[in-house]
Amino acid sequence: MATIVLRKRAGVTFFGDKSNNQVHYLPNETAQCQIDKIIESGNSVAFFPDTLEEAHNTGWINCPWCFVLSADIAACGEDSEG
Ligand SMILES: [Zn+2]
Repeated sequence: MATIVLRKRAGVTFFGDKSNNQVHYLPNETAQCQIDKIIESGNSVAFFPDTLEEAHNTGWINCPWCFVLSADIAACGEDSEG
């Protein structure tokens, strides 16, 4: 497993919540993400390497809040031709 428990948001970009298997994109954090509550509850994990690909490879899903404004990182092989 390439994850570790985080006790604070120390320099990571992607942040996982073990309670619902969602990965958050901290540069785009929203109030709905409740990152501080995740840390308090002990469900916070970081990924190594700290990439969205690593999170997806290990079965994590995107948070619907903080990924909504960052289509370029969330987009994955979409083909809009036609
Ligand atoms: Zn989020």
